[in-house]
Amino acid sequence: MKKTENPAATGFAALALDPRLVTALGALGYEEPTPIQSEAIPPLLAGRDLLAQAATGTGKTAAFALPMLHRLSLTEKGRKGAFGLVLVPTRELAMQVAEAIHRYGRELHVRALAVYGGSSMSQQLRSIERGIDVVVATPGRLLDHLRRGSLSLSDLGLVVLDEADEMLDMGFHEDLEAILEATPKGRPIALFSATLPARIAGLASKHLQDPVSIRLDGRTPSGLPSAAAGRVRQTAYVVSRAHKLAALSRILDIEDPSSAIVFCRTRTEVDQLTETLTARSHRAEALHGGFAQEQRDRVMKRFRSGATDILVATDVAARGLDIQQISHIVNYDVPSEPEAYVHRIGRTGRAGREGVAITLFEPREQWLLRNIERLTKQKIEMTSVPTVADLRARRLELTRASLREALLGTDLDSFRVVVESLSEEFDLLDIAAAGVKLAHQAGGGTDDEPEIPKVSLQVERPRPPAGPVRAAPVRRVPKSPDAVTLFIGAGRQAGVRPADLFGAIAGEAKVPAGAIGAIEITDRFSLVEVPGDVAETVIVALRKAKIRGRKVTIRREREAPRD
Ligand code: AMP
Repeated sequence: MKKTENPAATGFAALALDPRLVTALGALGYEEPTPIQSEAIPPLLAGRDLLAQAATGTGKTAAFALPMLHRLSLTEKGRKGAFGLVLVPTRELAMQVAEAIHRYGRELHVRALAVYGGSSMSQQLRSIERGIDVVVATPGRLLDHLRRGSLSLSDLGLVVLDEADEMLDMGFHEDLEAILEATPKGRPIALFSATLPARIAGLASKHLQDPVSIRLDGRTPSGLPSAAAGRVRQTAYVVSRAHKLAALSRILDIEDPSSAIVFCRTRTEVDQLTETLTARSHRAEALHGGFAQEQRDRVMKRFRSGATDILVATDVAARGLDIQQISHIVNYDVPSEPEAYVHRIGRTGRAGREGVAITLFEPREQWLLRNIERLTKQKIEMTSVPTVADLRARRLELTRASLREALLGTDLDSFRVVVESLSEEFDLLDIAAAGVKLAHQAGGGTDDEPEIPKVSLQVERPRPPAGPVRAAPVRRVPKSPDAVTLFIGAGRQAGVRPADLFGAIAGEAKVPAGAIGAIEITDRFSLVEVPGDVAETVIVALRKAKIRGRKVTIRREREAPRD
């Protein structure tokens, strides 16, 4: 292949999206659509209804946002109400989706607004008055606006239900029904859900018209060749997004790979990571789909010869690379498809050598890893990022190994003289220790590394496999029909851990720990499922109690505070 690769032209551009969207995606470094994007974008562009099974991490946001923005760009000027409506279960997701829509729609100057309980109503009203194109809302707060008459649905061109199963689980069923009833008939509706239980099917059959149904390809990945499997050590480190770069650099320091490929999702990430790793004295080079063939060849030549030992690449760029000796595969993000994971790590542990597969993940991505474990039938060790003490210990170990090598060598005579002369004045052990210190310091690495905050894994909300017909589907833990989700106004930033919530609810409200359902801890708040008949007791008891030493807001999740 001689010509410069331009996968954008074959990838997103092939989907016939507005060129301004393709430009924005290029700027974000997206190289090609994910499977859910390839499948969902064409029918949504054609104005069809859609029922899609896709969960977080699959690229589902862009799958509905891009066709929404494309169709928005074709609308007449002078429209009063919003064109796009996205309903989401939580305020966190509302903010994330609105942000994504801003990013994708930058060139179109899209006005997107996140509307959720707990944020200032007057501010929302002012934004709505100025005019908006896309509203991303939690159902409760959207209904408030509909009742006040502050938002109109009459100009809607696409309604999206995102994480529909979560919305039903959180008790938003009636609100969703009311919103869909208030939506003018015949407007396209897209329903995205990680699982498709009967209640979702019911909602879909009532409100969707002749929907295109998408289930991600159900092929079970071929799995790792069993011989290789044993030779690949698979470890995943949990880390918050803010500390991922520092964590990657530390892990590479500790692992000290002889040749590694670090996979990332976008070109932007590839460039950013390469820059950071280089600044931290790693010998890293970038490789992505934007490279011309000669440039690509030069990078590969240096990597093969050992002049660089870390290749930072996208999947697209790494496709077709034939490199025999890779000691480490690093997934900077959990791949959205188990197949991609299997494919990537299949590049290490070859020809009888040992290989290491490392994955960085955020707590909310834990289920993606569990999914991979289930499909590959192999365990991935999940652990925290090494501490500064671990790093120091590892550096000392490396110094020790180098010294040992030097001791096994034969050319020490000229240095013995130095030791002998010093030995008249100092103890031999002290002289040796001083020598080790100098060798250690010369080995590089500073001792003033900041600690990377530990992230605790939240108690997992049971999640399904990404594809419906892959392996044995996992059933959601049946939730008692009258379970209620409580909102607790303190989260990770306040140091709240699942044990604190279990302790407070079991201790203060005398609810048996076994009756407490899923717990979700986000940065600023937590959600806990409790049986409906004790919900009030728990609320009253916790209002009097303290969690992590402070009084916190507690209420039923779907009752957003009114202002
Ligand atoms: P989502 O499943 O929508 O939460 O997306 C998961 C992550 O994948 C987000 O960080 C997106 O920015 C990223 N992403 C989505 N589509 C693509 C793509 N085609 N190429 C690279 N990254 C993507």
